[in-house]
Amino acid sequence: MAIAAEAQPQQKARTDVSGAEKKRWTLNDFDIGKPLGRGKFGHVYLAREKRSNHIVALKVLFKSQLQQSQVEHQLRREVEIQSHLRHPNILRLYGYFYDQKRVYLILEYAAKGELYKELQKCKYFSERRAATYVASLARALIYCHSKHVIHRDIKPENLLIGAQGELKIADFGWSVHTFNRRRTMCGTLDYLPPEMVQSVEHDASVDIWSLGVLCYEFLYGIPPFEAKEHSDTYRRIVQVDLKFPPKPIVSSAAKDLISQMLVKDSVERLPLHKLLEHPWIVQNVDPSGIFRG
Ligand code: AMP
Repeated sequence: MAIAAEAQPQQKARTDVSGAEKKRWTLNDFDIGKPLGRGKFGHVYLAREKRSNHIVALKVLFKSQLQQSQVEHQLRREVEIQSHLRHPNILRLYGYFYDQKRVYLILEYAAKGELYKELQKCKYFSERRAATYVASLARALIYCHSKHVIHRDIKPENLLIGAQGELKIADFGWSVHTFNRRRTMCGTLDYLPPEMVQSVEHDASVDIWSLGVLCYEFLYGIPPFEAKEHSDTYRRIVQVDLKFPPKPIVSSAAKDLISQMLVKDSVERLPLHKLLEHPWIVQNVDPSGIFRG
């Protein structure tokens, strides 16, 4: 794909073997189409790279807002990490460029939009759909962990759906490239494991916990430790106050898997490669990783 080969994660102009400079991306390289959505720091547009005709999503972030919220460092880390990842269930970041006021991220276009909206529309997913999504996320996280990347913010708002119905992890704003155990508190409370809400050391197994929370939310429509007050969510997470409501009806195999992921002691959580062999996953997953409705 031309754009992937062209796009560079760095803004610096490249030189080819003959020493001739290849140009940087600019806004002139793109035809801008309809707005796809609005984020906290700017807007996302459908766009077409003029030379290759490749369709992308162009995320436009305002520097002033990034500076005000002191997230420039976080954005740099996100770009650095996401631009190096190549997996069918991870949204590609082809490159970036900037002008005086804005930073532009050239992203893979996820034609079917936000998973969050789908979940709101359906209230909760079927076991086949949930298992297909959970398995594809497990594969993407196994890949991330093999590259020493912990995502740390797996939740429906950070997942997009591609043209074929495949899930794409889209937001690496809280991810870290790590060889050590971490102590930073980040992400939304609902999806955080006990060791992160308590700001003690954590490692890649935080993503197993968040995937367990997500699996529960796919099947029940609400996250497991939800409470009116922040302090109650905190307490429920730390105590692993896990309850399965009678409705919607969910199989005992699914509950068994969730119970093996939402374990306080992080070393006891079901490893992701074992998750892929769990009977609930094996029986329900669409091996293509695509939910066909
Ligand atoms: P964000 O700033 O990442 O929260 O993006 C704002 C909204 O734009 C999202 O909620 C999506 O609806 C949409 N969006 C962002 N990135 C993409 C993409 N790569 N493909 C399609 N829609 C996107």
